[in-house]
Amino acid sequence: SDSHFPIPISPAHVDFSLHFPKFVEADNKTSKKVEFADIGCGFGGLLISLATLFPDTLMIGMELRDKVTEYVKERILALRRTSSEGQYENISVVRTNSMKYIPNYFEKGQLSKMFFLFPDPHFKEKNHRRRVISTHLLDEYAYVLRAGGIIYTITDVEELGEWMKACLEKHPMFESLTQEELDSDPVVELLCNATEEGQKVARNGGQTFRAVFRRIAYVS
Ligand code: SAM
Repeated sequence: SDSHFPIPISPAHVDFSLHFPKFVEADNKTSKKVEFADIGCGFGGLLISLATLFPDTLMIGMELRDKVTEYVKERILALRRTSSEGQYENISVVRTNSMKYIPNYFEKGQLSKMFFLFPDPHFKEKNHRRRVISTHLLDEYAYVLRAGGIIYTITDVEELGEWMKACLEKHPMFESLTQEELDSDPVVELLCNATEEGQKVARNGGQTFRAVFRRIAYVS
């Protein structure tokens, strides 16, 4: 249950210095803020791919399962130890329930990318409220994303793919990326092959359904 992991009362109370020791400055604060969040990061494959693609960007995975979170922590520490070029210092993971605590971790407009890769489908209609993309949760994601920030979603479940796309399409704070923008974004190809779930789907020859949207600026 939630009582088993600490919940920061506000983003100012999150001590990221422990997560990113190489980015800590004299005042014991990190020199930059976390910009990418991988929600339900599972075993951390996406973070590991992104770490070297964006070496100067701090990124955090959020994962509900305790053992999986511990595994990702160990995996990152091992990569840091064995990297001769000082890589993987920019990625870390927290155990939390992202459906409840995103605003406890990030300030308004802090994030430039959010990832939702192969989230749990929650097929039954009465469980749709447990889906990580919903109109209500998109309000929160729009709050923590900066204008121009991007939300990436992918799934192998067609019905969930349509649901995520429909939620994003009807939300006033998001617009779809054009095909040209998708083609020129190096992150897009990672969506279906960087994570453990994506690799499993690819091995089984499964289809995937993607929705990538931009957080627009407020219209006055
Ligand atoms: N994104 C990873 C990938 O593509 O390999 C993992 C996909 S897995 C099917 C979904 C993950 O989301 C699981 O690891 C699960 O524990 C996590 N999860 C589910 N609900 C969550 C929540 N409310 N907060 C954080 N993580 C959650």
